Amino acid sequence: MASSESTSTEDGAAEEMLPGIRHVIAVASGKGGVGKSTVSANLALALTAKGARVGVVDADIQGPSIPTMMGVPRGVPPEIEEDGRAGPAVSHGVKLMSMALLADDDTPAILRGPMVTQYMQMFIGGVNWGELDYLLIDLPPGTGDVQLTLAQSIPLSGAIVVSTPQDVSLNIARRGLRMFEQLRVPVLGVIENMSSFVCPHCQERTDVFGSGGGARMADQLSVPFLGGIPLDAAVVEAGDAGLPLVVKVPEGPVGKAYEDIAGNLTEVLARPREEGLGSFVWDWEADEGRPPWRPGAVRIED
Ligand code: ADP
Repeated sequence: MASSESTSTEDGAAEEMLPGIRHVIAVASGKGGVGKSTVSANLALALTAKGARVGVVDADIQGPSIPTMMGVPRGVPPEIEEDGRAGPAVSHGVKLMSMALLADDDTPAILRGPMVTQYMQMFIGGVNWGELDYLLIDLPPGTGDVQLTLAQSIPLSGAIVVSTPQDVSLNIARRGLRMFEQLRVPVLGVIENMSSFVCPHCQERTDVFGSGGGARMADQLSVPFLGGIPLDAAVVEAGDAGLPLVVKVPEGPVGKAYEDIAGNLTEVLARPREEGLGSFVWDWEADEGRPPWRPGAVRIED
């Protein structure tokens, strides 16, 4: 696969370009099992349902789960196109690149930072994404070195942090928020997953893990709260069957929750930068507002 195009800036640093990708957004979580990958897949589909062009990079190199969730066969390598870039898999209108496409068996247990960065450069710059409104990067869980290296090697316009409502999970999610703050990556918002239980029989909501924790944390840290997704056994079933619930039952409580979150995310991204959180808006047809990138660094401040 070809590496992404690069030119030199005035200060001699290489400028990496992702032509046609408007927003590169990391989806992160403090710990595993909070539903980060499920959220990435369903959010991508909810944005697609709103008419956006969306791609997903499954950066969870050691535990890639998005292809299974989206019904993409594992171990079927992408085709290399004429320009040397890989054609992404496409599922339910969403473009996807994942380690699971390259190998269906387990990947090496230990991947050091530089290797992870190389994979990411290949997965992002070496893929023919075409024009995209959003490229979601499903980061591996945690806030260790691997996540830090990844977040630094990707030209991010912002990050989303996924948490469950338990205090312990929220406390760990704070670390993720702090990591992005240190990297000067704008936090686009917090998503609370498994926030309440909706009874499949009577539709009554029960806050199994307490209520409002995600919204409170977002408020305390002055970052947007994008919304909560109910705990629903149908999510597991749909993910295992490769047909995410947003596609299967868009009108259900989970489908509606994602629709709201997609709307809130779009609204946050559209905010002017003076308000602190708004990101650039890159009009690739006119080539206006293109952010300067630097490999190995996040978006450079103007
Ligand atoms: P992570 O990427 O954070 O490790 P996953 O997305 O793999 O987490 O989800 C972990 C498990 O939780 C999966 O079995 C998934 O189907 C399930 N899950 C995710 N979100 C929900 C939800 N809202 N309700 C019920 N189960 C969920």
